[in-house]
Amino acid sequence: MPYKTSDVVVIGGGVIGTSIAMHLARMGAGRVLLVEKGYLASGTSGRSGAMVREHYLHPVLVRMAMESSGIFHNFREAVGGDAWFIQTGRLLLFGQHDMEAAQANVAMNRELGVNIETLAPSDIANLVPQLSTEGVAIGVYEPTSGYADPLATAYAFAGQAANLGAEIVTGCEVTGINVSGGRVVGVDTEHGTIEAGAVVAATGAWSTRLAAPLGEALPIKPIRVQMVHLRRPPALESLTTTVIDRTNGAYFRANAGVNTLLGGEAPEDLTEVVNPDAYGLNADHDTITRFWERARMRIPGFAATTPLGGYGSLYDMTPDGNPILDRSEVVDGLYWATGFSGHGFKLSPVVGRMVAELVLRGESSGHPVHAFRASRFREGDLLKPDFPYTEASHP
Ligand SMILES: Cc1cc2nc3c(=O)[nH]c(=O)nc-3n(C[C@H](O)[C@H](O)[C@H](O)COP(=O)(O)OP(=O)(O)OC[C@H]3O[C@@H](n4cnc5c(N)ncnc54)[C@H](O)[C@@H]3O)c2cc1C
Repeated sequence: MPYKTSDVVVIGGGVIGTSIAMHLARMGAGRVLLVEKGYLASGTSGRSGAMVREHYLHPVLVRMAMESSGIFHNFREAVGGDAWFIQTGRLLLFGQHDMEAAQANVAMNRELGVNIETLAPSDIANLVPQLSTEGVAIGVYEPTSGYADPLATAYAFAGQAANLGAEIVTGCEVTGINVSGGRVVGVDTEHGTIEAGAVVAATGAWSTRLAAPLGEALPIKPIRVQMVHLRRPPALESLTTTVIDRTNGAYFRANAGVNTLLGGEAPEDLTEVVNPDAYGLNADHDTITRFWERARMRIPGFAATTPLGGYGSLYDMTPDGNPILDRSEVVDGLYWATGFSGHGFKLSPVVGRMVAELVLRGESSGHPVHAFRASRFREGDLLKPDFPYTEASHP
């Protein structure tokens, strides 16, 4: 253990914890120590779709996503290292039910400065000729969207944190948060105790395990989700635009050359509550079949593909599908940055800054961290859009 005492301990080495550690180090937080039980990005981050976009349904999230997207487009200068960001463009497809909501959300996003437009089915067919527009009433296209490499991103944040003097410790589980007189005094780990003036838990799907012994009930459920690998047949090899099909819950994102990652976000894809230390790491046969069927409905050329299996991963779901970025409600000096509900990758650069500011200055600049307080669930003040989509969802 490099320090027996530390100014701030960050628990969790995913994209959120590493970004927070980097921003704390940048802001001169003193001795910053990140503790990860596995290796960097060994949780959800390493199994993320890692898509980056600005389109959101709530203005707070749009502005946060815009700041983050700017960083991914300019990662070497803004962070250092390489997140391997690839711009693909992102096309959302909606049926008749969501036509008005899509138009209203695009208008709101455009007003805030997002480069985004609606497309008629004939425009969609021109943009992605391999696509069937059956059942599609409107498309939404964001040309500057893309995806990055989540592992490279976490290592880049951690590398910059280390360059600025932070210590990164992997293979070390935090077994409990130590409290004295209602205030955090450090953490117990499997390799010894660390004293700390502040502790930030960026522990994703594992968060309730640290919260429960403190008497803090975080409304987070670990949900298993699955991704399927498809090898694109020759007729689809040039298809690299990210496609989110809201009519059936399928989403497609190019992956390393001629492969495509196929995800599912229909309600039936988000029901499996699991133990985050013991869940199915490989995709199930029936899921591969179900997702492949959806793929063929929207992109008929996928009938000639070879499914290459898939994998399981985790969403740390909250009741409104948005994260908790907050002080602990029961322990002073303890902070939560968790519950990203399947859309935290793209937000990691801006969330790292917001949480570091919350810890060091008590408030975040630019975006209201207050909107992500844990008490919103009790208060019924959820972060909900004015124009929600009704069809199969993607956060
Ligand atoms: C299939 C899939 C696709 C996704 N696609 C996208 C996408 O396209 N775009 C997007 O923006 N987001 C996406 N997401 C969501 C995004 O990946 C996550 O929101 C993000 O990675 C969460 O990062 P994190 O650091 O909070 O969590 P994690 O990466 O899970 O990190 C938490 C870390 O804490 C560690 N830890 C937990 N408990 C302890 C402890 N007691 N002691 C020490 N260490 C501990 C864990 O080992 C883990 O490494 C997707 C997620 C999945 C599963």
